[in-house]
Amino acid sequence: MVNQDRLADVFKMLVQIDSVSRKEGAVAKALKEIFESLDGEVVFDGAGSEVGGDTGNLIAKFKGSEPGVEPLLLNAHMDTVQPGEGVKVLFSEGTFTSNGETILGADDKSALAVLIEALMVLQEKKVPFGPLEIVITVCEEVGLLGAKHLDYSMLTARYGYSIDATDTEGIVTQAPAANHVQFKVHGRDAHAGAAPEKGINAIQLASKAISEMRIGRIDKETTANIGLIQGGTATNIVPALVTVAGEIRSHDPMKLEAETQRMLQVFERHVSGYRKSFPSEDGLPKLDVDVYEDFSVLHISDDHPVVTLATEAASNLGRHMAIKISGGGSDANIFYGHGVVTAILGTGMKDMHTVRESIRLEDLVRSAELLLEIIQLHAKKG
Ligand SMILES: [Zn+2]
Repeated sequence: MVNQDRLADVFKMLVQIDSVSRKEGAVAKALKEIFESLDGEVVFDGAGSEVGGDTGNLIAKFKGSEPGVEPLLLNAHMDTVQPGEGVKVLFSEGTFTSNGETILGADDKSALAVLIEALMVLQEKKVPFGPLEIVITVCEEVGLLGAKHLDYSMLTARYGYSIDATDTEGIVTQAPAANHVQFKVHGRDAHAGAAPEKGINAIQLASKAISEMRIGRIDKETTANIGLIQGGTATNIVPALVTVAGEIRSHDPMKLEAETQRMLQVFERHVSGYRKSFPSEDGLPKLDVDVYEDFSVLHISDDHPVVTLATEAASNLGRHMAIKISGGGSDANIFYGHGVVTAILGTGMKDMHTVRESIRLEDLVRSAELLLEIIQLHAKKG
C-alpha cells in the first residue's frame, strides 16, 4: 500500500527546506499545508517565542473514521543540526545522502515523510483509523526545548510513538534520566609574574577536583561526563574564574542523585579545603553550583499496550520487533514525564549529526508499513 516514489519525493522535498533549530518556520508552514490537505486540524503552540525560535510546535489532530477509539500520539521533530542549510540530496543505489557538505536531515525528516505517507495511504485507501494527535516539535536538537515547552493541555492521547531512532525493527522503551551540572570556581586574580602569591588559581583548583572525579561509565546503567571547561583571561594573569560543566545519566533515579552529589562533593571538598588551609578576608575561593534535571527517565514495561501494539503490528507483517534500551534522551522522555507513555520507533537513518548521514529508501518504506499497521491495528483494538 505504501507508495515508494511518493514517499521518496516527500522526503527529498522536506530535506531541501532549511530548518535548523530555532529557524523551523519554513518547514512548519509546509507541514501545516500538507496536514491540512489531508483533513488535519493544525495549530501551533507558544513554544516558539519561549525558545527564541520562529515557530512553535505543530499539533495536527486527525479525527479518523473511528471516533470511539482512544487517540494515539505520533511525534517527530522538525529541526535539524548544523551544517544543515542548503542540503543537496543525492540518491544512489537505493540510498539518500547529502553531497557531503551538509548533514542530510533524515534526523528527523525521515519520520516526517513516513508519517505523511501513512496519512496519505489512510485517506487514499479509506482505511479505518482512530483519532491521531501528531506533535511535531521544534528545537529537539538543542535540549528537547520544544517538548519541554509544549502545551500538554492540548493533548488527550495517553500513549503513542516518537519516531526518531535508527532501527526499523526495534522499539525503544527505556532511556536514562540526565542531570546537567555546572560549577563556577572563583579564585583571585593577580599578576602572574609580579605577585602570584596574591592570587588563587581557579583553573588549578578546578583541575584538582576534576582529576578526582569518577567519569565515563560508572556502571551498567549510569554514566558521567565533564564536557566543557572555560576560564582564564591571559597567560600573565592568575585566573580568577573557571566554569566547568558536565552531565550525569542513569536509568536509576537513585544512582543519578548519588552520582550527582558525588561530583558536587568533590568540588566542595577542594574549594573549602583551600579556604581552610589559606584563610583570607575576602572568603575566596568560592564555589557556585548549578544543577538541573535535563530530562527524566523513560521506563515503559514490556506489557504496556504501546509495546504490545507495535510488536503485534510487526508480527502481522511477518517481522520481529526487538525491545531496546537507549543511552540517550529524546522528546519521548519529556512526553513520558508528562504522563504520555511514548515509545520510540526507528526509520533506518544512519550516521546522524554528520555529513555522512544516510538512509535507504527501503527502510523508509519498512518504517511507513509498520506505522500504517500500528494505526490500523490500534483502530481494530479500540
Ligand atoms: Zn532526532
